[in-house]
Amino acid sequence: MTINIKEIAEKDRNSVLHPFTQLKDFATGKLGEPTIVETGKGIRIQDALGNQLIDGFAGLYCVNVGYGRTEVAEAISRQAFRLAYYHSYAAHTTDELAILSDRLVKMAPGKMSKVFYGMSGSDANETQAKLVWYYNNLRGKPNKKKIISRERGYHGCSVVSGSMTGMSFYHDHMDLPLPQIVHTGVPHHYWGANAGETEVEFSARRAQELDKLIQRLGPDNVGAFIGEPVLGTGGITPPPEGYWQAIQAVLKKHDVLLIADEVITGFGRTGSMFGSQHYGIEPDLITIAKGLTSAYFPLSAAIVGEKVYKVMEDGADKVGAFSHGYTYSGHPIGAAAANAVLDIVEKEDLPGNARDVGAFFQAQLKERFAQLPIVGEVRGVGLMGAIEFVADRDNKKRFDPTLKVGARISKAARERGLIARAMPHGDILGFAPPLIATKAEVEEIAAIAESAVRSVM
Ligand code: PLP
Repeated sequence: MTINIKEIAEKDRNSVLHPFTQLKDFATGKLGEPTIVETGKGIRIQDALGNQLIDGFAGLYCVNVGYGRTEVAEAISRQAFRLAYYHSYAAHTTDELAILSDRLVKMAPGKMSKVFYGMSGSDANETQAKLVWYYNNLRGKPNKKKIISRERGYHGCSVVSGSMTGMSFYHDHMDLPLPQIVHTGVPHHYWGANAGETEVEFSARRAQELDKLIQRLGPDNVGAFIGEPVLGTGGITPPPEGYWQAIQAVLKKHDVLLIADEVITGFGRTGSMFGSQHYGIEPDLITIAKGLTSAYFPLSAAIVGEKVYKVMEDGADKVGAFSHGYTYSGHPIGAAAANAVLDIVEKEDLPGNARDVGAFFQAQLKERFAQLPIVGEVRGVGLMGAIEFVADRDNKKRFDPTLKVGARISKAARERGLIARAMPHGDILGFAPPLIATKAEVEEIAAIAESAVRSVM
């Protein structure tokens, strides 16, 4: 299909309200023309001008099986021809939905019972909050409602999930966070540890802080804790040693539910099928999205553990129907897409690829960047990684934010054909390539990134 680039750009500028975009700069052309992304194959996308880019971020950490997978496109098309839609209210289902749900309950970590579907990670976390509140209402604990999240955690940008997100720029001017959501310290050893404090000691301190926070709020007022096994948007930061063990002990002591937000880490990114398995996390509730369909169709889910579900079922005679659901909950095309994607994840052992190619990628990042004078930390796990740039390595001093070092490096990478993301909270270049990436491909990513970094040094 040939498209009229000028016409599309003009229509876009006149009518699309782009997320996470400086509106004035876009409207006045300061951000340049919109990039019209036209096709994708493997780890690469191509724009309407014919420029090829390596997508070192899998879209937004989501196109895990890579672009252009005909198996997934065919599964979507087959289902659309058979039955484009029917709802899943009042015990209606489709074969694809039932098969997917059975699969997810069996493969998920912990003792899971049921799957509730949405369309995005944000709405799935909105559901999680309602499940926590419902659960505690049904078991006669009407005050046990506060949800604790971490600073620099990212859980979405709807009203509750945006409140869970621990970054002030998602709250400012939007009247967030809600008072039910409280934040605790970020588990980032590099910036947060005291001099000489080991990772294990730092983790224990973060757990003590959480314990104190719960005591201060009153354990009868705290319903849940939500966390990403590996902080994603907050800087691609794996947890320090012992962190999840220490945190879970505190949550158990106070009867506080644990929601594992596996929107990024689910389906292989860390090198394990779920981040929870990678770090020994036993969640009560699990949020999944992105990798579930590799973004071929918008689909998310809240996976509900046995403990929570039992209370819901036992309470049904008292409260009636579970009054929560979206028109598109359990959309059959989404379910078909997810089943086709999970077939690929399993057949091609993408968690195994993320582990093997990921180990090579992490080594490449360390080798090429760790000793550079402007690099403070190189970190990551599986096929997610980050380089954090600092003005002064010895004294751990950040660059003046007005220098926009991270953004300039990301731009230099893009000019060299690589999408690597400048992340908030410092000068950070983040990577999360599709999980099908080969060693040669991640080496190419690391080499282009090195050239970009050196051009800015
Ligand atoms: N949770 C995590 C860990 C995420 O990374 C994201 C998105 O990046 C979300 C939730 C929100 O998902 P969505 O953008 O699909 O609403």
